[in-house]
Amino acid sequence: MSKEGMECSFCGRKKEETNLLIAGVDAHICDSCVSQAYGILSEEIEEESTSKNSDLVVKKPREIKEFLDQYIIGQDQTKKTMAVAVYNHYKRLTQPDTSSEEVEIEKSNMVLVGDTGTGKTLIAKTIAKMLNVPFSIVDATVLTQAGYVGEDVESILSRLLQAADYDVESAERGIVFIDEIDKIARKGDNPSITRDVSGEGVQQALLKLLEGTVVNVAPKGGRKHPDQKFIEVNTKNILFIAGGAFAGIQRNISKRLNRQAVGFGASLSEDRVDDKNLLQYIIPTDLKNFGLIPEIIGRLPVLSYMNPLDATALRAILTEPKNSLIKQYTKLFQMDGIEFTVDEEALNYIVEKAIEYKLGARGLRSLCEAIFTDAMFDMPSTDETSFEVTRAYAESKLSSTMLKQLKQAS
Ligand code: ADP
Repeated sequence: MSKEGMECSFCGRKKEETNLLIAGVDAHICDSCVSQAYGILSEEIEEESTSKNSDLVVKKPREIKEFLDQYIIGQDQTKKTMAVAVYNHYKRLTQPDTSSEEVEIEKSNMVLVGDTGTGKTLIAKTIAKMLNVPFSIVDATVLTQAGYVGEDVESILSRLLQAADYDVESAERGIVFIDEIDKIARKGDNPSITRDVSGEGVQQALLKLLEGTVVNVAPKGGRKHPDQKFIEVNTKNILFIAGGAFAGIQRNISKRLNRQAVGFGASLSEDRVDDKNLLQYIIPTDLKNFGLIPEIIGRLPVLSYMNPLDATALRAILTEPKNSLIKQYTKLFQMDGIEFTVDEEALNYIVEKAIEYKLGARGLRSLCEAIFTDAMFDMPSTDETSFEVTRAYAESKLSSTMLKQLKQAS
């Protein structure tokens, strides 16, 4: 090719039209194509790195707790413990590969012990929301050892993949909440009693998952992988939070505390044990005595407890969280141009009934539904612009039969 005939092989500009034409083996590229290509390249690189890390802005423990405070009433100790554990866990994630370094930060999987309806799931879910990572809930009671009727532990990861819309990388940084972990406790103290399909076997199967391993997961109808039989998921960076009521564990705690009190270092007797809330003294040994195998306990190193919800907590739950029930109803009515107010006495009444019928925090919603449904049915078809709920109104909507029904349904 003559010098005059040279042109950019990408855009076709003649040499005279460019500032610089660079020659390759059998092609040329002009300065403007080079800078355009550079632009595309930097964009791609940036996109790749932001998609990996931008949504994982890890807040400091204090900020994490402040975020949790917006949604969860009380449970300060657990919120603190959780904030630190999550902070450390995700610090570990954003670290470069530590294989060559000496200090390897271990996972901060957690166990939350507390009555049903005290906010265990809510806390785990809120953490996932804050971190913007996929979140899934599994019920330990449906899990069985491989080969038995029920779900294999791998199904835990199918759900997480689903929640991540089959983005494996994102699933691998997700959070899994394992509910009712206490239900897979070993029955009885003798480890060799007949094969324990639903208990110890499942605990054994969970071990590897909790610690970190590569698992072949059946995608179960993912859009992105229609033909793929299995997807490989590494659980190394998945945060597992297990929750359970551990009914009766207070007895183990109390026994242990009494034993300590008569032994050496009887400091607890001086500190006065709060008998009403023994869970606050829980330690891993109590979980072991309840029937969790030591290996599982070791892989769930962070242990915390939930306080029972008293009237003050229930009252706060009604109105204070960012998306509290009353705030939600206010918005619903507002959408129909109705100003909705509930007076203090009516709120107290709802709390009293929740306690009297042992409905817990979950029951608050059913109580509200029972009280407000008639109004939500009738008012949109009227011209009324305000709805004031008083104690008398609330009482008129809740018959004792209805309350008993709510109790049975809870
Ligand atoms: P658990 O997992 O302990 O059984 P959940 O987290 O499912 O309990 O709680 C049930 C519901 O009760 C939540 O969705 C929430 O509406 C309410 N709730 C429970 N505890 C709290 C709390 N501490 N703060 C705010 N809401 C709560």
